[in-house]
Parts: sequence; structure tokens; C-alpha cells
Amino acid sequence: MDSLFPSLWTGERKTALRFGDRELDYPRLAAVASALADRLRTESRVALWAEPELTTAVATVAALLAGVPVVPINPKIGERELEHILADSAPGLVLAAPGAAMPEALRSLPRVDIALDTDGPAAQPSEPDEAAPALIVYTSGTTGPPKGAVLPRRAITATLDGLAEAWRWTGDDVVVHGLPLFHVHGLVLGILGPLRRGGTAHHLGRFSPSAVTQALEGDGTILFGVPTMYHRLAETVDTDTALAAALSRARLLVSGSAALSLPDHERLTAATGQRVVERYGMTETLMNTSVRIDAEPKPGTVGIPLPGVELRLVDDNGGVITDSDGETIGEIQVRGPNLFTEYLNRPEATAAAFTDGWFRTGDMATRDGDGDLRIVGRQSTDLIKSGGFKIGAGEIENALLDHPDVTEAAVTGEADPDLGERVVAWIVPADPHRPPTTEALADHVAVKLAPHKRPRVVHFRESLPRNDMGKIMKRALK
Ligand code: ATP
Ligand code: MG
Repeated sequence: MDSLFPSLWTGERKTALRFGDRELDYPRLAAVASALADRLRTESRVALWAEPELTTAVATVAALLAGVPVVPINPKIGERELEHILADSAPGLVLAAPGAAMPEALRSLPRVDIALDTDGPAAQPSEPDEAAPALIVYTSGTTGPPKGAVLPRRAITATLDGLAEAWRWTGDDVVVHGLPLFHVHGLVLGILGPLRRGGTAHHLGRFSPSAVTQALEGDGTILFGVPTMYHRLAETVDTDTALAAALSRARLLVSGSAALSLPDHERLTAATGQRVVERYGMTETLMNTSVRIDAEPKPGTVGIPLPGVELRLVDDNGGVITDSDGETIGEIQVRGPNLFTEYLNRPEATAAAFTDGWFRTGDMATRDGDGDLRIVGRQSTDLIKSGGFKIGAGEIENALLDHPDVTEAAVTGEADPDLGERVVAWIVPADPHRPPTTEALADHVAVKLAPHKRPRVVHFRESLPRNDMGKIMKRALK
């Protein structure tokens, strides 16, 4: 098979990975990763203690070269979840940076240190078939206990090559981010993406507006982030002229993993002249859609299906929606080479996730006349059926965030004897001592959107529960 990373074998001394002030060029990465791959080849599955370090990137490349599925583990993982993942995935060993402290549960596994000082030339190994499992990634656990998605090699190549086309992403790009490396956003898009293109992945270690500024003042061309990161940039950019200039210079700003709020889109564009491009994906599907680099700016949409991805919207009765009115809501179902093959050890969950060969994402969306999708939210937590209407939580959250007295907002539905469900808002007020009144927020939404979308109940909180991707965990609110 062709290599997932052709640039490893050309001998060109170009920077492949940069973590803080540590760098590896392609020939060195080829040498250290293929030496580690030799050590892994006899394993059937390995765990990876996925700190945001150079070693994590090297170990992932090594496992892919060896054709051994790798299970990345969140280094901040709780004990119970770790035990669940280890029992579920049964790795033969754990890969970790030399000296990394790991919890008790992992210490019983044979440990292999990820060495970066191997020298000597690399021999190009023969890589496995595209159907071979490459990664087992646990979902973010936003809606329930994480499930291990088995991702074949072709899912990685399909997604990365599709994004390359949509974004004109090449080996000249330096991708900057501070994302965690135990989910597909940081690991597949943020590390494997630049390596497949023959460009550079620049990991910030810790995300901060000043680290972003420095990296984009250097050779950075593309920025990846989750909405909580873009929110911080949006809050900083008005008063930080260096950040504004750095963001203006970037070739592409990409947000994903959750919806970026409309107020943040607007603030970033106003301060930098740039629009933030959103793409939509999942652990199970890698990337499904993206706004293309040459598309007209349309904040709040996630663009069109990537090359090779088939996508349909389906109504409650299983009928395929053909309207492109930007209003009819349906479930997104997808088919294509980007998909996982199964949930590990969960044949029933896998079977339930598909209908006639289409994967049911559980995400609801509308489609407009240009074919652009707008995510309304998750069927399970973001769709409120109230007074005969279907109301998307995201739209109300955007309206609430637009209110000057609101800094964070989440919307849920709860049972109501008259309406079926009523709209409930969870608000972090800008000034905790002077929260806005329920009436003020309800009026604001009624005027901005429509009266039936106004929250009937408002809860004030100091903060909202979020997972490590910054996603609001709505089940923890209720
Ligand atoms: P779990 O499945 O364990 O509950 P999760 O769904 O959050 O967790 P991920 O696979 O990391 O786990 O996230 C995929 C989900 O993230 C999608 O189903 C979608 O709801 C959301 N998402 C991703 N990108 C976007 C986007 N650009 N806009 C809106 N939502 C998005
Ligand atoms: Mg999910």
C-alpha cells in the first residue's frame, strides 16, 4: 500500500512537527517512528498516554506505520472512565513519554517509552491495507459514556484528502493549534493532517491568545480550534492589536467540534476582516462537511459534504427531505469512506447506529438553496418540541449570547403540561451581582426570533459544565 505519509520517505529536511521549541524534521520523524514501529508490529492493539507532546505524535505515526491500532487516552481521564476504556479495548501495552506519570490502572500494563533520540536511516515499511483498523477513539462523552469508534485507515485518508481539496491545504501550510491529542480533531486533523500534506504541525502546548499571536506572527498559516478557544480570541481581539493583526494574516481559521456562536463569528470578523470556517464531523465519521475556502461567507453554516461523502436529511418518519428551503429540519445521515467500521465490543450499538447502510449522526440540520447545512443541534438534547413547533436550542443560545448581560448560555427543554415541552435557559450572567431578569431575556428572544421561542424558565449559574473539548454537557445541567 502507498504510505499514509509520503513525505516521510523523500529525505527532504523540512519541519514535520513542532511542539514549543522542540522540532522533528521528516527524515528524523521517519527514523524514530519506524524504529518504534518495529517494536510494535507484534501487538494487536496499543494504548497511548496522549499528552499534548511531541512523543504522542511520534507514537501515533509509529503505530500507523506498523499497522497496529492505537487507543489514545486522555491524560486527565478519571479513574472509572480509564478502567472502562482499558477493559473495553484490552491493549497489550501502553506507549508513554519517558518519565510520564500514569495512574495505577495503566501501570499494570507493559510500558514502552517513546524515544526521540533513535538515530540512523529509516527503512520504509510496507503499510497495511486501507480497510485495516488504524485508531480506536472514544467519543467525547457529551451525551453518555464514551464509545470506542474503530477507524480504518481509509477514513483518515478520505477525510484529510477531502479537507485538502476544500481548503486548498498543501505542504506549504503550517497548522497551528493547542488541541488535545486524544480526540480526532487534534490528532487526525491537527497532527496527521499536516503530516499527510507534507507540511508542518505546530502544537502550542497550551492554548492562549498570546501563543496564537506568536505562532501566526511566525510561519503559521492555518489555525484550528474549538469554539471555546475562538470565544477567548473574540474576547481578546478588540483590545489586542497584535492578535488582530496575526489573525488577519492567517490563510485560514477553522472551528469545529461544536457550534461557534454567531456573536463570536461577528466579533472575530469585525476585528480581523477574516471569517472563521466551520467544518462538521464526529469521532465516528471524521469529517462530513466543511465550508469551502472559496465559498461566500455565511456565518453559522458548516458548508457542504466533502468529496466522497454522501449526505441526506431525513424526517421523523424516515422520509428523505428534498427541500432546500433552509427551514425544514431533518437528521443528518451519512455514507462514505470517512466512516468508522464499528463501536468496539458493541454490535447492538453499531447496528442501531445505521439504517440501510447510512450512519445516523443524531444531529439535526437544515439545508439552504446553496446546499449549505446549518446544524440545529442534537436530536437528543437540542431539539425542543413546544406548542407544536420544533425549536432548535442553538438558535436561542445565539440570541441569548447576543444580550449584553449574558456571557454563557445553554438551552434545554423540559416537560410542560400545556406546551409538551418548554424552553429553559441556563445563563452565566456578565455581572453575577446584577443578572438580567427572566422577562428581559424572554423579551429579547421574542423580539429577535419569535415569541414561541422565548425561554419560560431561566436558571442562573456561575459556570456551565463542559467536557475537555469545551462542549456543554447538557445532561449534567438537567
Ligand atoms: P458522545 O457521542 O460521546 O456523546 P460527542 O458526540 O460530543 O460525544 P464527538 O464525536 O467528539 O463526541 O463530537 C461529535 C459531535 O460534535 C457531532 O455529533 C455534533 O453534534 C458536534 N459538532 C461537531 N462539529 C460541529 C459543528 N461545526 N457545529 C455544530 N456541532 C458540531
Ligand atoms: Mg456523539
